[in-house]
Amino acid sequence: MKWALIGASRIAAGHMIGAFRAQPGGEVTAVLSADARRGAAYAEEHGIARSFDDLGTLLAEADCDAVYISTTNEKHHDQALAAIAAGKHVLCEKPLAMSVADAVRMVRAAEEAGVVFATNHHLRNAGAHLAIRDLVASGRLGRILSVRVFHAVNLPQALRGWRITDAGAGGGVIPDITVHDADTVRFHLDEDPVEVVAQMTASGLGQGVEDSVMSVWRMPSGVMVSTHESFTHPFAGTGIEIHGTEGAVVARDVMAQTPQGSVTLVYADGRHDVPFETHDLYERSMRLFEAAVRGEGRPSADGWDGVKSLAVALAVREAARTGAAQTIDYGV
Ligand code: NDP
Repeated sequence: MKWALIGASRIAAGHMIGAFRAQPGGEVTAVLSADARRGAAYAEEHGIARSFDDLGTLLAEADCDAVYISTTNEKHHDQALAAIAAGKHVLCEKPLAMSVADAVRMVRAAEEAGVVFATNHHLRNAGAHLAIRDLVASGRLGRILSVRVFHAVNLPQALRGWRITDAGAGGGVIPDITVHDADTVRFHLDEDPVEVVAQMTASGLGQGVEDSVMSVWRMPSGVMVSTHESFTHPFAGTGIEIHGTEGAVVARDVMAQTPQGSVTLVYADGRHDVPFETHDLYERSMRLFEAAVRGEGRPSADGWDGVKSLAVALAVREAARTGAAQTIDYGV
């Protein structure tokens, strides 16, 4: 497949260009940047034939089947609608949009146009998470009682731009990390949170946006979920624990972009290491996306998954802002 990049971003450079090229016949043919000089330099650095500074021109002239949108978050909606109208398949970064209504509009437009639309939630592609999901689904943990997610990190210096200063661009730890945790919990439990309570703060990095949040979610089954996301924790490590009546799964350092960490099954008779695959998360995601374009299966996280992760994240922020429990509005 031939891809055009909408956004000359770090995530495209660090992970996605390689993932597109790792597929059989995979090519990246064009890049869009609002800054023509930066776009040209980015194209040269990454071996991309053409750069554009106008989306309409790129969509009309670039040789591409699909676009990957990784601009700042407030741009995703309009760019996705334009790409869909041009008949392109779309892989869009999380959070899909600034509001649930906008995200729903994007997904519905793709459905009406008959193009594949996916959300770049990488974690559900990790071998560790696939192993955890298998354990939960197998029933070996018994009845699931609770989930704890630890996703408090030390935001790398290079990322300390719009994420910590610009609410209008979609900054803040909730749109950045809580969306991923929402998708991951939904993936493991196969159900959608109903209601959330939360508190957030700016604990050293956030300027006009939150850099830390803790929330508790109510699931339809009665499972209790707690999550902690932050940009300001150099020493916390990440992880997820799923506790059941017969056993627990305890995973450490698995809320990551690379295949890493450990998964442990805890039973009354002791602790057991759980083996898992160590493939590239983004390459697996692209393999499933391209299969979906061929009419085989679905992307690992589709558009509705992106709508739902955004809905949970925005409810968490609203709960923290108001101090009141929020019923999650999935916009459908
Ligand atoms: P970047 O800050 O790297 O890029 C966002 C925009 O900022 C780019 O489109 C670019 O604008 C501009 N920009 C980037 N670098 C520079 C620079 N050096 N000087 C001037 N402008 C620059 O964002 P990220 O890659 O961190 O994130 C992009 C999107 O991807 C977000 O939606 C984010 O939530 C998501 N993301 C997802 C991840 C995942 O694993 N799924 C991981 C990381 C991010 P222009 O294109 O106009 O040149």
